[in-house]
Amino acid sequence: MTRAICIRCGEVKHGCWTPCRACGHAPHGETELADSLCLSDQMMDDREDMDAVAEYIRDNRIVPVFPAGFRHALAAVRKAKASLTRRGLLPADPDTFVSALTRREIP
Ligand SMILES: [Zn+2]
Repeated sequence: MTRAICIRCGEVKHGCWTPCRACGHAPHGETELADSLCLSDQMMDDREDMDAVAEYIRDNRIVPVFPAGFRHALAAVRKAKASLTRRGLLPADPDTFVSALTRREIP
């Protein structure tokens, strides 16, 4: 099972696109899905890095964005667009969805 971090509260969870049991946040829309994929063990192989990211989110309530990883994750999300839309993870009308989360690029 994928070990992931909730992009809203920093809690560790199982599955990058599952709802968080701590805060209830369920990633929605391609940016949140890509951010969630980035902050999971599918893209981060170092447990210490994941712990540091979790702490950063808990302390700042900001999603750290690593540009190269994000581009890669976004491409994966867009490739799976049809099935993700069917599963309700992507909005049927992308123009109407606005994420409430604050993001910051980490160079
Ligand atoms: Zn959470």
